Order: sequence, then structure tokens, then C-alpha cells
Amino acid sequence: MSAALITELLTKRFGRQRAVENLSIRVPERSIYGFLGANGAGKTTTLRLMLGLLRPDRGTIRLFGQPVRRGGARGVGALIEAPSLYPHLTGRENLAITRRLLGLPPTETDRVLDLVDLRAGALRRVGGFSLGMRQRLAIARALLGRPRVLILDEPTNGLDPEGIVDMRALIRRLPDAEGTTLIISSHLLGEVEQVVTHAAMIHRGRLLMEDSLPALLSGPGSLEVETAVPAASAALLVGAGLIAEPGRAGRLSVRTAAGSAPEPQSIARLLVEAGHELRHLAREKPSLERLYHRQLALAA
Ligand code: ATP
Repeated sequence: MSAALITELLTKRFGRQRAVENLSIRVPERSIYGFLGANGAGKTTTLRLMLGLLRPDRGTIRLFGQPVRRGGARGVGALIEAPSLYPHLTGRENLAITRRLLGLPPTETDRVLDLVDLRAGALRRVGGFSLGMRQRLAIARALLGRPRVLILDEPTNGLDPEGIVDMRALIRRLPDAEGTTLIISSHLLGEVEQVVTHAAMIHRGRLLMEDSLPALLSGPGSLEVETAVPAASAALLVGAGLIAEPGRAGRLSVRTAAGSAPEPQSIARLLVEAGHELRHLAREKPSLERLYHRQLALAA
């Protein structure tokens, strides 16, 4: 797949604060690319750099091979921070303002409303919209003029369960319906895992890892273990040559030194024979969440 966007050694500091540090990523064309990290990891700063809204201190960004210039990247639609919509106007009227500014025909309004599944709803005033409808309207606006890349900053933040399902469906259909490449920032790894084809994880402005979703999830297996005495159990397992790290919900994530899942029976025997009350033992399903925490531990 050719690249829609490439950054090379991208660096941005605010005073002494390193927001983005030597970040090199490659977003394949027509991918749904998750840009993931905790609050303050540098996601929004990177997206603003990609959009040409901030100037990097160092490094380059290329969009379909062309350098992104300060003042705005062409062919990129974006939804960053809360969308500015006029509440007293209908959804359609809100779209029409931008459509006219861009010199696009009225048919373009229907096209983008159909894409976000808001044709009927857009006849109402935006003041009465749910947050999910507002988000979809803002995405419709960002899709005016058929951008080749669409950047969404935390698109499911604050949405109710129904809004999240709608947003997921919308994100999934855009690459095929429009040929769009999507870059989605999020700190909700479990949510993002359901829609992305590729992902990058960042921490303190630096890249932890980047790959296709299947490659990221094909990582080493592990066991999830819970006992009544987690610290003692961790020490016992480490003493037996295993790697035992804090996992979800106070449980231990256990793997062999070679990085594979240990035999459950041998772990159970080891713990029970040492008198540790075993409460839970299961193979851990690979997930972005687990991978992220493992990478953080390695980076520490
Ligand atoms: P969040 O999800 O909380 O927005 P983020 O991953 O998007 O987090 P950024 O907003 O990019 O992170 O911030 C990265 C770091 O840069 C943070 O430590 C933040 O405080 C700092 N930062 C961001 N913008 C500015 C600014 N304009 N001036 C000073 N520091 C900033």
C-alpha cells in the first residue's frame, strides 16, 4: 500500500516540554490508522502538525509525497476539539455555509449527509442535536470537497453507547465509500481496536510501536493469573524464571522468558503447591490495551 502520510523525525517542544519527539510514522493509503496514547502523550499536537496548524521544530510531514506547509494541509478534513456549529441553524444550514465557502454544489450537502446517515435529522436545528449527531454533522462538514485524508481527534469521546456504535459504523464505511484515509487519535484502546486497520502507540511524544492491527495482535501470548497473594505469587513466578507483570484488575500477566504463554497446569501446580490460593487462571487474549502496557513497561 502506498503511503497517504509520512512523518520523519517530527519534533515539537513547548518551552522545555517535549510534546512530540523524533516521531516517524507511515499511514498507508485507505487505512483506518489509530494514533494512540494516554492523555498528554502528544496526540493532538501531532495532529495539529499534520494539519499545518503548528510548525514543527524539526522533522518533516509528507502528504501523498508533498510537504505539508504551515497554514493548512490541502486535501485533509479534520475534526479536532469540539465542533463549532451554529445551534440556531439546522444541520443543513450549517453545512451550507461551509459548502458555499468551498464553492461546492448543493448536491454535495446531500452526499455528505447520506454518508453520515443524517439526511432526515439535518432538517432540525443543531441546538436540539445529541452529541453523537453533532459529531456526525461535523464529520459531514469535514467531508465536504472529498478530502483524501480525514483526521478525527478522539471521535467517540463523550458519546453514549448508541452514539459510539454509529460512529464506529461511520468510520468503517468511509475508506470504501469515499476512498478516504482515516487518522483517529484516541486513548480508548479497546474501542479503537474494533475499527482500525493500523495503529501507532505513543508515549511522551515518542513512538512505542506501529504496525497493522493483525501484526500488533499476533504478539506473544500470556496467562492471566489472580491469587490471594499477588506480590508473593509474582515473586514465586519470577523465581521460577517466568515474567510476571501487573495486568488488568490487580491480576498478573505471566509469560515465559521466550515471550510465550506458559502451560496453565504447570503454573497452577506451582502456585497451589506453594499454598497460594488460586482465584483465576486463563489465557490472555491479545489486545492493544495489553500490548500498550507491555510496551510502556519496556520503555520505562
Ligand atoms: P490529550 O488527549 O490530553 O489532549 P494529547 O496526547 O493530545 O493529550 P497533547 O495535547 O498533544 O497530548 O500534549 C502533549 C504535551 O504538550 C502535554 O504535556 C501538553 O501539556 C503540552 N502542550 C500541548 N500544547 C501546548 C501548548 N500550546 N503550550 C504548552 N504546552 C503544550
